[in-house]
Amino acid sequence: MSTLADVVLPLPLYKYFTYRIPSDLQEALQIGSRVVVPFGRKKYYTAIVVRLHDVMPQGYEVKELISVLDERPVLRRPQLQFWEWIADYYLCSVGDVYKAALPSGLKLESETTVTLNTDFEEPDDNRLKEREWMLLAALGKKSRMTVQDLEKESGMRNILPTLRVLLEREAVFVSEQLKTNYRPKTETYIRLTFQQGDDAALRHAFECVKQAKKQETMLLSFLDLSLFMQKGKLREVSRKSLLDRSGVSSAVLGAMVEKGLFEPYKKEISRFETEVYTVQEAAPLSDAQQVAYRQISDSFKEHSVTLLHGVTSSGKTEIYAHLIDRVLHEGRQVLYLVPEIALTTQLTNRLRKIFGDKLMIYHSKFSDNERVEIWNTLLDDHSPRIVLGVRSSIFLPFGDLGLVIVDEEHETSYKQYDPAPRYHARNAAIVLASMHGAKTLLGTATPAIETYFNARQGKYGLVELKSRFNDVELPEIIPVDVREMRKKNRMRGNFTPELLNRMQIALDGDEQVILFQNRRGFAPMVECKQCAWVPKCEHCDVSLTYHKRFNQLTCHYCGFTYEIPKVCPACGQPTIGVMGFGTERIEEDIAQHFPNIPVSRMDLDTTRSRSAYEQIIEDFSKKKNKILIGTQMITKGLDFDHVSVVGILSADLMMNYPDFRAHERAFQMMEQVSGRAGRKNRKGVVVLQTSQPESPLIRQVIAHDYEGMYNMQLSERKAFSYPPYTRLIYIYLKHRDETLLQELSVRYTSLLREVFGARVLGPDNPPVARIQSLYIRKVVLKMELSASMPKVKEILKQVYENMLVDDRFKTLLLYYDVDPM
Ligand code: ADP
Ligand code: ZN
Ligand code: ZN
Repeated sequence: MSTLADVVLPLPLYKYFTYRIPSDLQEALQIGSRVVVPFGRKKYYTAIVVRLHDVMPQGYEVKELISVLDERPVLRRPQLQFWEWIADYYLCSVGDVYKAALPSGLKLESETTVTLNTDFEEPDDNRLKEREWMLLAALGKKSRMTVQDLEKESGMRNILPTLRVLLEREAVFVSEQLKTNYRPKTETYIRLTFQQGDDAALRHAFECVKQAKKQETMLLSFLDLSLFMQKGKLREVSRKSLLDRSGVSSAVLGAMVEKGLFEPYKKEISRFETEVYTVQEAAPLSDAQQVAYRQISDSFKEHSVTLLHGVTSSGKTEIYAHLIDRVLHEGRQVLYLVPEIALTTQLTNRLRKIFGDKLMIYHSKFSDNERVEIWNTLLDDHSPRIVLGVRSSIFLPFGDLGLVIVDEEHETSYKQYDPAPRYHARNAAIVLASMHGAKTLLGTATPAIETYFNARQGKYGLVELKSRFNDVELPEIIPVDVREMRKKNRMRGNFTPELLNRMQIALDGDEQVILFQNRRGFAPMVECKQCAWVPKCEHCDVSLTYHKRFNQLTCHYCGFTYEIPKVCPACGQPTIGVMGFGTERIEEDIAQHFPNIPVSRMDLDTTRSRSAYEQIIEDFSKKKNKILIGTQMITKGLDFDHVSVVGILSADLMMNYPDFRAHERAFQMMEQVSGRAGRKNRKGVVVLQTSQPESPLIRQVIAHDYEGMYNMQLSERKAFSYPPYTRLIYIYLKHRDETLLQELSVRYTSLLREVFGARVLGPDNPPVARIQSLYIRKVVLKMELSASMPKVKEILKQVYENMLVDDRFKTLLLYYDVDPM
């Protein structure tokens, strides 16, 4: 039996801390269990045990851990190992990974805010314990407190275990849950006030309702519903099903409760639908799909990672479904990763039909309770399941993964920017899969250059699917020279005559249109027409974005809002006006050209809530709207049947963006958005507006020539030493004081340069050089692929420690972004 436990704390600390295990807990404690530990001044945290041993550490006084929260670990093998890999690879602490991985409800700490659930009712058959009541009463005074304050208020010590129980019973919430829509987990049920089988009482009940036909109907409906025998037990009847069945109003039910015949009670139900789904087999595969399916299976024999490069609408989802089915039959689990925005009802319904309740969905907009529920479900058993989830679902406690699918693997939203861990979910998922001995399938019509490179080098298997389902042709792409149209004065706002004509034809034929406007650089801005003054955020070094709906200015980095000044602060003239081509502006243009045509707009502003987003998609698929205007959001895995024209309003900004990935991105975006044109049986048309119609990239887009784009980009990457020929690490330094930051960044960089020489670039001011009042400097480290990463990391650590000799460096914020996107 071990006497000491190493734990990971939810803090950015680069080591594990050791605690003494009280003797009565020594036997039960397991690796992966949560424990409450004191840390720092009077603070305590939920930590996770990573190692049990007897070796007393030197250099600090070992404290005793306070209590153990779990009888069974909340982590499974190999999760800890996976966390360590992420921390090591992405240069952050395991504590950072822990914070990102666990739902808040599983990692209570002193600073966590807990809130009283005012709807909580204590069930008769499951009373709260005294300590639990005391805590609730203390919380009730304010209804919202931090754990630390609650401890003071209640005068109780070590309240985390008690809080854990209250959380599980939903008597309290942690504050994070309240941000999301919390759905109550109870439902009202109805029961008779007398025992079943009490015939006399039943006869009496019928006497009571004899004069009231509707009440009689309800009583009969109740018996009908409840007598549905299940294993000799009467079935419980929910209020809703009773009202539905009887077709009688709730007032009648109320009257019967008054009379003392019925009695309502609350019952806990699972947050996830418990209905039994009628499942049907996945659609049979077409010949081409069948071939791809077999090639994937064969490829998996030699490669643990395989890329399915299948054009848009080739039916990749169907192929996934068949692969998933096979893995589930082998009794193993599947993780199906999608970019946040692609997790639509369209997709979940499709998979739900095939996999029924084996399908679990993990969305970032879920409440914390829902996350905890999924977490615990996976922890409880190994049964074959498929988790369809976003980036963070790689952290779930899978028991036995057999297959990981990363759909739209090229999507940059798989990379987490902020906060740490700054991981790439696709790459992390590949590592996770290998820890489980599982295969990984990457799917996309436009592979990331790095991925295609790996496939070409034979590191990954490669399967190509070049025909669309039903052999529908890829859309025809018509480039239109905006420069020329401008010269001839033929532009109508942002529209060329060609695009307007095509739109008109489509609308006349009762077809639909999608217009794509790249988000980057197209945010509408406010400007002084007199002196060109532009308002900027006080905390960040960026121009503000104009929001017409609220007639306000917003900072996209910190979210701060500002009023529009009446007169220009620079020249004093009342000449402030809006410029730019946001999606709002396009919407106005459309209203002018096509009055009376219903239009919807899909961008960050119109899709703040998940339901708003789903509503826009649904309205469009049902043809309630004829034209859909959108940003990159509309490029993601949507499947509409009646879109014959897609307009790309401007390819220019995408292409000219100063980033070595700009052309790759522009190609991916244009190819994906073109893919929305002409699905089901029909070839579609894409009008591509650009001022560089003769540029190689535009020609590659027109020809759907991924290979051409790939080869060209690859030779540029090689010439300028960019990935996949090098590995990039960005190092960010931040401070409030710009002079100090500059001085220290220069010193830091020259220290780095002493070791790495010309592989170090910078320090530079990034495009946005101040965010939330912190100035930023960026240093780029370009390492050749052959360099030993552990060594590189060791050097980075040493340089950092050397800098710490200067006390001022401690006030500087420094972090790394490995494989930045
Ligand atoms: P991708 O993901 O490759 O863009 P999808 O999987 O969305 O393509 O498929 C495109 C369309 O073709 C969808 O409407 C889908 O239902 C249909 N489809 C694909 N494969 C089949 C199949 N084997 N049987 C019936 N319909 C299919
Ligand atoms: Zn700001
Ligand atoms: Zn001015």
